[in-house]
Amino acid sequence: MSLLVVGSVAFDALETPYGKVDRTLGGAATYFALAASCFTHVRLVGVVGDDFTERDREVFRGRKIDTEGLEHANGKTFFWAGRYGKDPNDRVTLVTELNVFAQFQPNLPQSYRDSAYVFLANIDPTLQRSVLHQIERRPKLVALDTMNYWIERTPAELQETLKHTQILMINDDETRQLAAEHNLLRAAARIFKMGPRTLVIKRGEHGAMMVHNRFIFSVPAFPLEEVHDPTGAGDSFAGGFMGYLAGAGRINDNTLRRAMVYGSVLGSFAVERFGVERLRKLTRKEIGQRARRFWKLTAFSL
Ligand code: AMP
Repeated sequence: MSLLVVGSVAFDALETPYGKVDRTLGGAATYFALAASCFTHVRLVGVVGDDFTERDREVFRGRKIDTEGLEHANGKTFFWAGRYGKDPNDRVTLVTELNVFAQFQPNLPQSYRDSAYVFLANIDPTLQRSVLHQIERRPKLVALDTMNYWIERTPAELQETLKHTQILMINDDETRQLAAEHNLLRAAARIFKMGPRTLVIKRGEHGAMMVHNRFIFSVPAFPLEEVHDPTGAGDSFAGGFMGYLAGAGRINDNTLRRAMVYGSVLGSFAVERFGVERLRKLTRKEIGQRARRFWKLTAFSL
């Protein structure tokens, strides 16, 4: 079923213990779309500048990614630079240049307005809501990501957008900050009062936990000897998760659990190489093989 994503398409400069790149294609919506397109058709909404060339756009070609909603504006593409230490969770943001993103007003092509599954990547909550307003029929599922910046600076706008969201996907620090509660289960109960009925907490190398009103489900991060570049792990997780659900076309306890595994599978591939390099070459066969390894990793009898 149709899956829409709105979020950043960026150029990133990255520095990790495994190397350094000055300019590589990134952005939350890019990682999300590449991961989700392994399972279903993706409709991309975002903005790029005039430094974004046909060659850059190639990354979306030949995949199930519709770029009609990727606007070209005058100016430079969003730029982000980050550095990681030995601990992949240890990230320092060096530069954030919003550029064309600063004036971005998402405008959905008519062909996107019937999207049944929607992922609102980490952008201004007012813009996230404006995307929802443009969808003509009530979507089957709306999931949202956000960050400390919006939790601190625009709490009222975020609360309003959360009322229209079924799944919130954030990390553990953001969960604690949003709920003003350290314990993650108690924090989830508070977040459920804000609108979402499911909370997916991304915990980097510690995996991910889903708290749903009927159950809790955890997946580990896939054990890797070398994490070359943690950038985009969370967005790739979200892409695997939402892509699987939209492809399955059903939301129930079983598909939600499997979505957690596919999220973790896609996140684990994303970090194996710099930028989007690994996701670009990923095959369904590799995804299936790694999902089976997850099953072996976690199966036990009682
Ligand atoms: P993640 O590692 O999942 O947090 O996502 C990293 C991606 O998010 C990078 O490719 C960045 O280009 C993008 N990014 C970083 N900061 C922001 C921001 N403030 N708003 C939107 N996207 C961002």
